[in-house]
Amino acid sequence: AHLDEARARRRNTRPERNAPMTTKQEKSLILVAGGAGFIGSHLCSALLDRGEQVVCLDSLQTSNLSNLCALEDRPGFEFVRGDIVDALPASILERAHRFKQIYNLACAASPPQYQVDPEHTMLTNVVGTDRLLRLASAAGARFLLTSTSEVYGDPEAHPQREEYRGWVSCTGPRACYDEGKRAAEALTYDFCRTGRTEVRVARIFNTYGPHMHVDDGRVVSNLIVQALSGRPLTLYGDGSQTRSFCYVSDLVRGLILLMNSDVTGLEPVNLGNPHEITVGELAEHIAAMAGTPRAVEYRPLPTDDPRRRRPDIARARELLAWEPKIPLAIGLQRTFDWFAATVKGPGFGSEL
Ligand code: UDP
Repeated sequence: AHLDEARARRRNTRPERNAPMTTKQEKSLILVAGGAGFIGSHLCSALLDRGEQVVCLDSLQTSNLSNLCALEDRPGFEFVRGDIVDALPASILERAHRFKQIYNLACAASPPQYQVDPEHTMLTNVVGTDRLLRLASAAGARFLLTSTSEVYGDPEAHPQREEYRGWVSCTGPRACYDEGKRAAEALTYDFCRTGRTEVRVARIFNTYGPHMHVDDGRVVSNLIVQALSGRPLTLYGDGSQTRSFCYVSDLVRGLILLMNSDVTGLEPVNLGNPHEITVGELAEHIAAMAGTPRAVEYRPLPTDDPRRRRPDIARARELLAWEPKIPLAIGLQRTFDWFAATVKGPGFGSEL
């Protein structure tokens, strides 16, 4: 029933093709769907720094308006509340012709968060991406999809190159996100292949930094919040699984480079930091920062939790001359300091 409803809504809200050209008085705009989220808010800020006019569209499902505090009074910034699963807001459709670029970062991205309403997660990726692609097509705008390392699933190939097709379960609890992102990629490539839209696809690996939500449930935010509030650090499984963590400013620089590059739309690009560590080692770093002995509480490993993950970034190096610059020790310290300064108060992190 939800899908029928979504299809009906889509038929009614398809933007007109051949939208009028931007007039001289109207500056062109960049749309950032998911712009109030952790990565989205940093992207909006970086685009404003480049002198762009930014419209941030966000449902605030897993994001936070406080991420936009530093942006709301900046010239050229506008926030519009809306869920891309529903019809796009009129204030966006009316100005379709003014958008020159559309970034799609709209989706809950933390496993516990995207599993709260799996159907909505899938629809965000499929119906939501379709709406934004249609908008891009009508506007003649370039579209960038933020896909994910989760398209590789629990990978047999290591490190993961873009050619690797993945080891993904469509029956497991992560499917709403990883299969949803795979479908969003397929849709995006079809818009490209049929010449309807110019597209770029970034596959984002684990990213961390200020603006992560305190209750986000991801490992970096969980462990920092626990360390700051003197509670044991939760390790799922034995902590020997690996991840490779990229600081958010590096990632955002990569997204902007990719959007403005000549990389063809059918070539997804991994963006992540190839420095791989175990989750147990990450806990050691964070405990050392807090100056507390490392007290650990072991919990069961979630279903389908990937054992190893590390991006091969040869393609990003070659095509974008991009690579991460911020080492883990520096990025973690900045993130730790941000959590320490910003998110204190009664009940701080009490749910973790
Ligand atoms: N993890 C953990 N403790 C936590 C949260 C996560 O040990 O409090 C583990 C999780 O099982 C996974 C890794 O840390 O192996 C990264 O999890 P996260 O949710 O940050 O992102 P994922 O890479 O799984 O999408």
